[in-house]
Parts: sequence; structure tokens; C-alpha cells
Amino acid sequence: MITKTPMSLTSRVIIGMVTGILTGFAIRALFADNGFVDAYIVNGLFEVGGKIFIASLKMLVVPLVFVSLVCGTSALKDLSTLGRMGGKTLAFYITTTAIAITLALTMGTLFQPGSGADLTAVSTFTSAQAPSLGQVIIDMFPTNPISAMAEGKTLQVIVFAVLFGVAISIAGEAGERIASIFSDLNEVIMKLVALLMNLAPYGVFFLMAKLFTGLGLGAIINLAEYFLVLAGTLLLHGFVTYSLMLKGFTGLSPVTFLKKMEDAIMFAFSTASSNATIPVTMETVKNRMGVDNRIASFTVPLGATVNMDGTAIMQGVATAFIAQAFNIDLTMGDYLTVILTATLASIGTAGVPGVGLVMLAMVLNQVGLPLEGIALIMGVDRLLDMIRTAVNITGDSAVSVIVAKSEDALDESRFNDPHAGEKEEEVHLSHR
Ligand code: ASP
Repeated sequence: MITKTPMSLTSRVIIGMVTGILTGFAIRALFADNGFVDAYIVNGLFEVGGKIFIASLKMLVVPLVFVSLVCGTSALKDLSTLGRMGGKTLAFYITTTAIAITLALTMGTLFQPGSGADLTAVSTFTSAQAPSLGQVIIDMFPTNPISAMAEGKTLQVIVFAVLFGVAISIAGEAGERIASIFSDLNEVIMKLVALLMNLAPYGVFFLMAKLFTGLGLGAIINLAEYFLVLAGTLLLHGFVTYSLMLKGFTGLSPVTFLKKMEDAIMFAFSTASSNATIPVTMETVKNRMGVDNRIASFTVPLGATVNMDGTAIMQGVATAFIAQAFNIDLTMGDYLTVILTATLASIGTAGVPGVGLVMLAMVLNQVGLPLEGIALIMGVDRLLDMIRTAVNITGDSAVSVIVAKSEDALDESRFNDPHAGEKEEEVHLSHR
């Protein structure tokens, strides 16, 4: 008898992505001005399918972050662990972002993607003011936890969940009863994540098909140098910096790490949102890599909100590009300002599509570069947003593994097992 092994989720998502991209290109080539296809297929089926997929991921973020973080903190035996783990995580997040932007400025200066660029573009882009660090910290504290949840303010939800978890851990028997309810809830929510992940191949297909039907790739040719330097730096950081860090701090195999990141990277790539990818990043670091929930429940949502190395890289390369394109020399002081502003601006800014450009306006403002420069690069930003979001969440995951290892909260046999976590991804639609 021949038994059929089911195709892995990763392979199914890859198939969804590739067929989506090809379908998008085919529609663009064959049905460019076809009203029916446009109205019912592209803006009908694809749009609806893609939006439902993103909505279903986002729907999970608040309950998942809250419940898993309450479980994580209430399980901490010693509360000083919390401060140590938080401090380490933030230190890693800030350092990796600073490395990322320094790398980007170096590459941007070395390869000069902006010299001789066309400057005719005009923009009406207005910059938001960079929030002060004090305001960012004040904004982390919710005045009303329910409205923080309703508005999806991840940092506020994190703060409330940590406090709630701490209270559970010191509330004796009543705390234990509540903790066990949260632990069951956590299991159920992780099943919900698995359920929705199994729909991902279709969701990814719809998103890619819609995007590639409308994506003007022509702009890439005009901006080839910018695109290549930026994409190259993103890949360099994604593959080399994190691999060196992982090897250096934990001795674990970067190849295993990157292989296990596949699903999360594809979700990040198709949604261009670190936030919407939180459920998958969480599932990946916990189930596939063996990071304990008490670390992952904290590092993953925090990283999706404050740690954006890919975005910082975009800002570094874009700043160098725009300065070159407008023939403006940046001083050493300007470079330091860019590093500082971009690192600070990324804290407190949600991981949603395109937000990097808004933050870029702040950075340009700080060093007196013309905001019109943003119009030059806008045309290729969507595709680059997809790549940098994948880097953003790879950074969150690498730091999660490093912090977990240092806290003795990493199941290394799970990390080293290539098939770990696959069982958790299986969904049986009947109860056993
Ligand atoms: N889309 C990115 C993210 O969600 C942010 C950005 O760079 O625009 O991580």
C-alpha cells in the first residue's frame, strides 16, 4: 500500500506564493484592460481573499500576546528574571538596530547608489515629528487596558500583561487557579494559530496575485542601484550579522535557524507587517526552535514593535541615496544623528506596511535633507518593504533564541530537530 506523506506547510505556502506571483504577472500581461477581470478577479476575489487572510492574522495578535505573556510572566519563579531578561532583550534589540543602520550607511557611502540620480520627482510628503523618548515611555503605559487592546497598542498590552502575570505569580492559590486557566487558553489560541496557518497557502496566493497584478516593476530599472544596494544590505544583515551573532552567543547552527525561519519569513514577506506576522513568529520560535514561552511571549511581540533592523537599513541606505542624489554632503555628526534618530524612531512605531517611509521622513528632517527625496524611492518601496519586514522578524527571532539560551530556557534538542514543531502545525478538525 502506498501511503501519501502530506506536503509540509512550508511547501504549500511556497506554492501559493509562486503561483500567486505568476498569476499576477499573467493577468497583467494578458488582461491589462479587461474590466471584468479587474472588477471581479483582481479587486474582487484576490482583494477579498487577501484582506480576510490579513484580518485573520491580525485578529490573533492581541489575544495571543496577552494570553501567552500572562502565562509567561506568571510562570517566572523569580521576578528578578523579568528585569534581567527585559534588559538583555532591549540591549540586543537596540544594538542590532544600530549595527544595521551603520552597515546601511557604510554600504550606501561605499556604493554611492544616488550619484547621478534623476531629481525631477516632486513630493508633498510631510514628516511627522519624531516623538521624544519620554513620550514613547509614557505612551507604553495604558490608562485603560481594554482600550489598549481594542486599539491594538502592542506595547501597552505588553505592559498590562506583564503586570497581570506578576500579580498572578504572587497571588498564591487564587493565582494558581487563574494561571491554569490562562495556560489552557494559551493552548487553545496556539491551535487557532495553527488553524489559520493552514489557510495561509490560499491567503498568500491572493495577496501575491493582487500585488503583482498592480506592481510597477518598471521603477526598479530606474532605481536599480538603490534597489540592489538596499536588497544586498538587507540580505547581508539577515544572513551574516544574525548568523555571526547566533554562533557567537549560543554556538547553535545558523543554518538550522534560517531553515526554521522559512514559514515566518514567507508570512512577513507576503504581509509586509511584523505585527500581523506575530502569531507565526511566535509559533516558529516556540515550536520549531524550542524557545520557552516565558521568553518568546515577551521577546516576539516586543521585537515586532520596537526592533526593526530591516527598516533601519532602508533608512540608512535611503538617507545616503537622497544625500547623494541632491548633492548634499553629510558630516560625521549627521551620520551619528541618523543612527540615533532611526534607532529611537523605530521604538514605539508599529510594524505595519509602509511605516518605514514615514519614519524616514523624520530621519531626513533631522539632518536637513529634502523630503522630496522620498518620492524618488516610493515606487520600489513596496517590494523592499516585504524584504525588510522579513529581516525585521528574523532579527526578533535571533534575539529570542540568544536570550532564551542565556536564560537556560531553550530546548536545544528541539532546536536541532529538523522536524520539530510540525506536529503542532497539524490540524485535526474532529476531536479525538
Ligand atoms: N513593514 C515593516 C514591518 O512591519 C515596517 C516598515 O519598514 O515599513 O516590520
